Amino acid sequence: MLVDRFERPFSDLRVSLNEACNLSCSYCHLEGGAMTKGDLTAEEFERIGRLAARCGAKYVKITGGEPTLHPEVVDIVRRLAPHFEAVSMTTNGTTLRRLAGLLREAGLARVNVSLDTVDAAAFRALTGGGEVDKVRDGIGAAIEAGLHPVKVNMVVLKGVNDDRITEMEGFCAEVGAALQLIELHTDRGNAFGVPFRGSFHSLADTERALAERAERVEIAPQHHRRRYFVPHQVEVVRPFGNSDFCSACHRIRLTADGKLKPCLMRTDNHVDIIGPMRNGATDEELLELFVQVNDLREPYWPDPVEGEAARRAVDRPEGLPRLRVL
Ligand code: SAM
Ligand code: SF4
Repeated sequence: MLVDRFERPFSDLRVSLNEACNLSCSYCHLEGGAMTKGDLTAEEFERIGRLAARCGAKYVKITGGEPTLHPEVVDIVRRLAPHFEAVSMTTNGTTLRRLAGLLREAGLARVNVSLDTVDAAAFRALTGGGEVDKVRDGIGAAIEAGLHPVKVNMVVLKGVNDDRITEMEGFCAEVGAALQLIELHTDRGNAFGVPFRGSFHSLADTERALAERAERVEIAPQHHRRRYFVPHQVEVVRPFGNSDFCSACHRIRLTADGKLKPCLMRTDNHVDIIGPMRNGATDEELLELFVQVNDLREPYWPDPVEGEAARRAVDRPEGLPRLRVL
């Protein structure tokens, strides 16, 4: 088991399969990845997963880009599954009608499907042309396939969908999915180019209201996220400027171009693993790279940042061009 300098164990590996996506969400940080196309093979993902498990990782989450566009996604799930207690995925859901059953059979346990609004026009605008019905159908397919839980990720944006939380709660309760409300986030200085100032909507009031309504509240070990049972499950994810969130981060990431990444918010401290692997490094040498990256883990927000200080932290003017690989 690897534990970092801040007493945070490494229990969760988050693997980016690709940077490619069939949607273009206006706020997307693409997992803070290098904007390069990945070309790792299923065997390479498996080997890195197996080594992460030897370091104590119990869970692996597959992401991207849109991971279900990776031609070997089912094989990758199948190869990772034996090494972990659970394999999960976050997806935009557009391909789940075709893939949910195959992924379940390959060993996928649960899934997060991103859906910020069920309104067709608003969804189209937010995703650069996406069809909401495909995602709704994908959520249905995931539930039918037995993936559990199916969580709907809703990034709440000022003036876009902040008045649609109740509607989304109703949708989730009806289909039998949990709802995960996510605050928009970005790095200090907003190098990711997220349209932050105009779009950030605090979930503080929503969370207070949930706390009053809830029959029961759980605090998840990962990131100390609060889960409110009202009675259906609504989870609130508030990373921005949140030292409590960072204090309970148990993750190491793998970028699509084969770098170990100690923190979503940082692009300056990646540790290359695919290079040494392709140059013939032994398992023991590669495990050393996990030790190295674990030593680099540190809370991005060591102190709470609120109000004006938070706004100053994101001081990059909006409207700058963003690099995308589609
Ligand atoms: N394409 C997949 C999807 O949409 O789920 C996986 C990748 S996406 C980057 C993973 C999650 O990050 C999605 O739920 C997305 O809504 C969320 N996300 C992306 N950019 C974000 C941002 N700036 N702030 C908050 N959440 C964000
Ligand atoms: Fe980003 Fe996912 Fe939207 Fe694609 S679907 S643009 S990866 S949030």
